[in-house]
Amino acid sequence: MPKMDHAARRVRAAARSRAAGVAALLLAPGSDLTYLSGYRIFSSERLTCLVLANDGTATLVVPELEAPRAADRAPDVARATWGETADPYALVASLVREAGALAVSDQMWASFALRLQDKLGDREFRVASEITRDLRMRKDPAELDALRVVSAAADRAYVRALDLEFAGRTEREIGADLAALLRDEGHDEVMFTIVAAGEDGASPHHQTGDRKINRGDTVVLDFGGTRDGYGSDITRTVHVGDRPGEEIVRVHDAVRRAQEAGYAAARTGATAQSVDAAARAVIAEAGYGEFFIHRLGHGIGLDGHEHPYLVSGNEQLLEPGMAFSIEPGIYLPGRFGVRIEDIAMLGDDGSCEGLNRVDHALAIVR
Ligand code: ZN
Ligand code: ZN
Ligand code: ZN
Repeated sequence: MPKMDHAARRVRAAARSRAAGVAALLLAPGSDLTYLSGYRIFSSERLTCLVLANDGTATLVVPELEAPRAADRAPDVARATWGETADPYALVASLVREAGALAVSDQMWASFALRLQDKLGDREFRVASEITRDLRMRKDPAELDALRVVSAAADRAYVRALDLEFAGRTEREIGADLAALLRDEGHDEVMFTIVAAGEDGASPHHQTGDRKINRGDTVVLDFGGTRDGYGSDITRTVHVGDRPGEEIVRVHDAVRRAQEAGYAAARTGATAQSVDAAARAVIAEAGYGEFFIHRLGHGIGLDGHEHPYLVSGNEQLLEPGMAFSIEPGIYLPGRFGVRIEDIAMLGDDGSCEGLNRVDHALAIVR
């Protein structure tokens, strides 16, 4: 497996900063910090901040008690540690030497950003995604490998979920089982388990709850987590008991064909919105256009949702190395919902590769 080359990414980010008139990136815990250093840390009241100057100099400002962790995870980045009574904001300010704007990570807490503005008030503040978005959209080989591995793990978890007993149990119980399966198949963290039975399936982001699952229910399963920081995200719709109703079969078939149309449209040089449109046309043709109430997909990587978004109005051109979900759905209020979601990526030959390969058919479960 190729290794993540954080140093090369910092060189590219610094060059972009220079071109954009940005003196330095100031990155608090979050995906940009991880992307450029390898360091992953929870956000807390103690400031952690990667200062990446536009000459390429990187310094990780860390609380003293977390310095060993930073040294372990980002050994090639210089550290400036601060003790419990020191002023970390002054420390960050002292590391900003070039002229120009400052770009803070989109996920930086307001309490940090406002204090940095206090210390560096003469500077223009911008968001770091102006610099990092284009870099992170085009995944490098190590990232694509990480996405392949975590998606395959999610596939295996789904296959095992088909053996669960659904009838008579609650959404919450199935959700707990899905979480355990994700961990068992190699996820470090479970990020979400949406289990939406019957009428709950008509809410795309249903809050998994205490609804009892019955024979005859259609159940939307949308779940994912991370491994080595990279996310999985898969949705399949199952039916509890044999003989699904005629309309469920028809709706599921329309969603499946919409996803195939999305795959066919997703190629190098196509716009993000054209992929959404291709899938949407199939659902409209089937008579359910008004019930497909969300965009077709989102990018995925260190964040579960990131650029590029497959949505009407987005003229972003798709390129090799981009990874995104293709997740059409039909939601019939008060009745049921169907969604099918894969993560896919564009290969060097311009074609679209599905990273979730497990069967898309309406599975019959007990
Ligand atoms: Zn979603
Ligand atoms: Zn999902
Ligand atoms: Zn998704």
